[in-house]
Amino acid sequence: MGRLIRCITTDGCVTAMAVDTTDIVNEAARLHETSAVISAALGRLLTAASMMGSSLKTDVGSITLRLSADGPAGSVVAVADSDGNVRGYAENPVVEIPLNPKGKLDVGGAVGHNGSLYVLKDLGMKEPYNGVIPLVSGEIAEDITAYFAESEQIPTVCALGVLVNPDLTIKAAGGYLIQLLPTADNEIITKVEKSIETIQPITTLLSNGMSLEDIVKNALNQFEVEKLDESVVEYKCNCSRERTEKVLSTIGADDLNKLAEEQEVTSVNCHFCNRVYDFTSEELKTLSKKILK
Ligand SMILES: [Zn+2]
Repeated sequence: MGRLIRCITTDGCVTAMAVDTTDIVNEAARLHETSAVISAALGRLLTAASMMGSSLKTDVGSITLRLSADGPAGSVVAVADSDGNVRGYAENPVVEIPLNPKGKLDVGGAVGHNGSLYVLKDLGMKEPYNGVIPLVSGEIAEDITAYFAESEQIPTVCALGVLVNPDLTIKAAGGYLIQLLPTADNEIITKVEKSIETIQPITTLLSNGMSLEDIVKNALNQFEVEKLDESVVEYKCNCSRERTEKVLSTIGADDLNKLAEEQEVTSVNCHFCNRVYDFTSEELKTLSKKILK
C-alpha cells in the first residue's frame, strides 16, 4: 500500500503533498515486467498522477497523464482516480539504454525529448478538461511543473523519484508537489526557493527511512507546516468483463461477427493489469446482436 499526505503552511500560502509509491511502482514493474528505465519512467508518472488525482475536487473523477514523444518507450500512460489510486503502462515495457551523463537511469532518453504531455481531467461532468504542453525534458517532474505553470497558472515544485534494485524490484519510489496559493507573494516564493535549495533526492530520503511528514517539513523548512489529511493509495485497475464488452462493441457488429467466424475464442487483455478476458464465438455473436438491436 502507498501512503499520501496533504499539508499546508500555517500562513496559508503554500500547499504540499507527498506520496510513497514504492509498493505501487513495484506492482507496476511486476505486472508489466518493465526494464529499469521504464520502471523509473512509468513510476514517476504514476507518482505524479496519484498526487494530481487525489487533488481532484470530486468523488468520481479521474485524471489521465500521457507522455507521447520520440523515445523508445513509446507512449507512457498513467491514470488516477480521485482517491489517488493509479494504474498505467508503457507502450514498450522493455527498453535498454545507457545511463545518462549523471550516472542515472536515462528517463528523458527513454521517453524522448520531442513530444507532449497530455492531461485529461474527467470530473464526471459532460466535457472532460484537456491540457497539452510540449515536453520540457521528458524527465517528467519538470514536465509536470511546466504543465501547472502553463495550463493551470500554479507555481509548482515537483519532485518524483524511483530507485530500482539490481533485481529490478523497487527500492523506493515517491514524490512531492509544492504549490503556491494565490495568497503567496514574492517573499513566500523566495522562502520556498530557499527551502528546496538543499533538499536531497526524494528516493534518498525515502530509502533512509524518512517519513512523508518529515520530507514535507524538510522541503518547506522555512515554514511551519500543518498536516491536513492522509490516505492510502494503491495500484488499482478498474477493468471488468462488462467494460471489456463495451470496448469490444465499439468495433461494430460486422467486425464482431468476423472475429467470431475466424476464431473460437477471442482474448482481450487489459493494458493496465494484463488480465485476460476470453470471449467465445457464441458470446461475440450475442454481443453483435445486442449492438444491432
Ligand atoms: Zn485491468
